[in-house]
Amino acid sequence: MTRPINLGRTQRECFCCKKTFMATHNQRYCSVGCREKDYGIVSEFKGVATATVGAIQEYRVVIDLLSKGFEVFRATSPSCSCDILVLKENKMIKVEVRTAYKSISGKFIYPKNNIKADILALVLQKGEIKYLPENF
Ligand SMILES: [Zn+2]
Repeated sequence: MTRPINLGRTQRECFCCKKTFMATHNQRYCSVGCREKDYGIVSEFKGVATATVGAIQEYRVVIDLLSKGFEVFRATSPSCSCDILVLKENKMIKVEVRTAYKSISGKFIYPKNNIKADILALVLQKGEIKYLPENF
């Protein structure tokens, strides 16, 4: 017997583009693009390359962490296991930076793939930063 590929997924129509896709139990959009379009989320960096936006967000977090009194180090390659390293009382903390949006219900929406860091720094619209977990 072959194992079903889409275990726990159901066929659903995207709330935005109406395309049929395999959804997890509460997934309403086929893609991040469709969700952002439907939520009315507009990037504050129109026409700026994605990698550059990522760098801007990382520098925002660097500035915030420096102003909090940490020693801050930035990754030298995109394949490093985190974006920023922080030293606090000789303890090393790995930080991953993600651009995030706050949904209507107050939930943070951001890409959750490939996170190997201790702390997640979510950069919201207008540069507001939210750390998960908050105390570190
Ligand atoms: Zn769609």
